[in-house]
Amino acid sequence: MPAAGSPRADRGPILPGGTLGILGGGQLGSMFAAAAKRMGYRVEAISDVADCPAARVCDRVHVGAYDDPAFLAQVGRGLDVVTFEFENVPAAAGEALAQVTVVRPEPQVLHTTQDRAREKAFLVAHGFACAPHRVVRSRHELREAVAALGLPAVLKTAAFGYDGKGQAKLARPADVEPAWEALNAGADGPRTFVLEGWIDFDCEISVVAARGFDGEVAAFAPARNAHANHILDISSVPSGLPDSVLAAAADIASRLLAALGVVGVACVEFFLTKDGRVLVNEIAPRTHNSGHLTIEACETGQFEQQVRAVCGLPLGSTRQVGPAAMANLLGDCWENDPARAPRDPDWAAALAVPGVRLHLYGKREPRPGRKMGHLTALADSPAEAVARVTEARRRACRG
Ligand code: AMP
Repeated sequence: MPAAGSPRADRGPILPGGTLGILGGGQLGSMFAAAAKRMGYRVEAISDVADCPAARVCDRVHVGAYDDPAFLAQVGRGLDVVTFEFENVPAAAGEALAQVTVVRPEPQVLHTTQDRAREKAFLVAHGFACAPHRVVRSRHELREAVAALGLPAVLKTAAFGYDGKGQAKLARPADVEPAWEALNAGADGPRTFVLEGWIDFDCEISVVAARGFDGEVAAFAPARNAHANHILDISSVPSGLPDSVLAAAADIASRLLAALGVVGVACVEFFLTKDGRVLVNEIAPRTHNSGHLTIEACETGQFEQQVRAVCGLPLGSTRQVGPAAMANLLGDCWENDPARAPRDPDWAAALAVPGVRLHLYGKREPRPGRKMGHLTALADSPAEAVARVTEARRRACRG
């Protein structure tokens, strides 16, 4: 079923030679641009900084503020379609672009998924199982929510949180007040939070899926994800989970993309509970870190799939050619002793590990916790693929 209200409903696909816009200038934008340029498109990024990873690959970067509708409208007029690589932009940015060009997914999807309180309300209203939670807008509501959900629990800012930023675990009653103070520190006004009951999960998985203009959904196999300090550390596929769990996750992802009306790529992250439930953790209306291994491991990678989906082209096969694993390279891997010159990781040693591929995003400053690149390995089994990326990273970061 064609997406309702799309300005391109009767205009057919955007073909190679067209100009694609990407809102955000990070690594997801640069990998999108690489895939699109290979296919013969021109790609222009919209970013609030000129020296961004996407600038290395895009034909042009439009530098301006995400909250400047006049700037966005002027840029958008030169683009055949715009998609997102980053959701922490005002939803009004998507709306300003949608006045002048096609935006996929539609700004409404961004509006729902960029705020945890709205996202949770959407999940509940559409019958998707998620962690028990309460929306919290004051200290008093936090105390009530803690009483209702019990401890441990996680307090998360509703907006502008990522990679564990804006989150605090409440393990004991004594953690409640300090967490409230810490997460409100520096806030200009009252903030909205979501308190989530703690999920004692068996593992975390994610499904990256594309939904085409005609409503067709193509999902990649669920990735098994391990986090370190709330940041994705290692993803591997196949996950080794029972077929029933894989089918349930793929089915939820497919129904969620349809319910949201996504045209493009989205990622659904899940908790698998010890008693076998598949709970939605969060939704990203874009490609995802846990899908990077699809570049090497699948017949169509997630970035080419994003190009196909937003351009109204047939979706590619998500078939996996072999087991694969991905390890993130954070800024911590760079030796950054202020007393000495910064030292790059030992890439030659990492690349000596068989089956390993290196992706670096071109970020100049290697700060702790900053995603600087990733390694992907293919192997005969997922365990061997994980062993290879782990060993390659150990060698790169000098153990
Ligand atoms: P999020 O940004 O919500 O994806 O949270 C980052 C990571 O924190 C997740 O991938 C989990 O590893 C952990 N986490 C978040 N929420 C919970 C929860 N309710 N229970 C247990 N762990 C959680």
